[in-house]
Amino acid sequence: MNETQPPVAIASPGVRRSRQARVSWASNVLTVGGDAPVRIQSMTNTDTVDVIGTAIQVKELALAGSEMVRLTVNTPEAAQAVPHIREQLDRMGVGVPLVGDFHYNGHRLLTDFPDCAQALSKYRINPGNVGKGHKRDLQFGQMIEAAMRWRKPVRIGVNWGSLDQELLAHLMDENSRRTVPWESRQVMYEALVSSAISSARRAESMGMDPNQILLSCKVSGVQDLVSVYRELSRRCDYALHLGLTEAGMGTKGTVASTAALSILLQEGIGDTIRVSLTPQPGESRTQEVVIAAEILQALGLRSFVPSVTACPGCGRTTSTTFQDLAKQIDDFLRAQMPVWRNQYPGVEKLKVAVMGCIVNGPGESKHADIGISLPGTGEAPSAPVFIDGEKCMTLRGDTIAQEFQSIVEKYIERRFGALQPVEPKLEEQHG
Ligand code: SF4
Repeated sequence: MNETQPPVAIASPGVRRSRQARVSWASNVLTVGGDAPVRIQSMTNTDTVDVIGTAIQVKELALAGSEMVRLTVNTPEAAQAVPHIREQLDRMGVGVPLVGDFHYNGHRLLTDFPDCAQALSKYRINPGNVGKGHKRDLQFGQMIEAAMRWRKPVRIGVNWGSLDQELLAHLMDENSRRTVPWESRQVMYEALVSSAISSARRAESMGMDPNQILLSCKVSGVQDLVSVYRELSRRCDYALHLGLTEAGMGTKGTVASTAALSILLQEGIGDTIRVSLTPQPGESRTQEVVIAAEILQALGLRSFVPSVTACPGCGRTTSTTFQDLAKQIDDFLRAQMPVWRNQYPGVEKLKVAVMGCIVNGPGESKHADIGISLPGTGEAPSAPVFIDGEKCMTLRGDTIAQEFQSIVEKYIERRFGALQPVEPKLEEQHG
């Protein structure tokens, strides 16, 4: 073995090479793309006309960590409601930028309702349903003109469910004349990518700053998304909005989104992400933000909350003590974060381990900043606690959970409390 060269390379996310857009509201300026952290965004599912209901949901999404929130602007009434939603949010001290989602009539709404155009921080334009025939270029142009007039960035967001049918038909014809035709799936990929890029070029030709153009090409299959975004990032340097559209519900939606986004983010593709999860009945809309944050944290791209490593448990632990403790610590750390984020700078990088027995417990606990190895079935009823890799004490009895929580709290106070709170950078305000 060559002693000077370690045999195992360290895996890390690739460098992103996109342009940088600025999405702002008042003094809150959020950079997207370039060297900015990968941003999290989400979308409301309230009726936009319901000003209070929408403002409350936007606030919830922002507090959960969404750095931009999109809402549908589909009717004149919805466009009229937007400035009032903005006003409500400002009154509540929520500066999160709002993104307007336009389809079919965006050109009219942005022209007829200037207060709406002004209150939004970014417009989403879908070139697949901005109009047909000669109207398409005209109406697309009107939306770009509004964006330039109000100095707002745009996302040109293509979706395979609403792909420009004229372009697709043209590419299909072209394909049929090839000696070796492409697979129909490849023609569809090309239609998505070229629709996004040609629309962006058209916006640029009208005078739009390329830094203020973001692109997305959303599809609902994992391998399709990977294929399309690899090609998109190869052919342009616009900031990319990444997301698996119509990912589905619960476990399926979570896993599919995680799989697709992780592959691309690891390759340095994607500047802002949205997890398009269908909420289960009764589930909070904020779940999509929690998952997006977990994806970024798991990949080592950003840190939001201290991480709790817990073993899955097995036949060596027949009680639920360690599951309860893992959950309790995780809930506790998450609940404290709104206060701790400023009080204890850096606390989001803390690693805590809660392990079920002696097999991997002490080892895993030593790798964490602070860890506990609970007694498995048949083991002595004691729980060694490790701090910074050293065994520091052993807990016994019925109050292990409370004692461990207080040890974690004291550790955080000692390690992170000495650091001076820093004013969050403008672009990090919602991180
Ligand atoms: S650490 Fe112990 S209890 Fe946890 S999974 Fe491993 S063997 Fe099972």
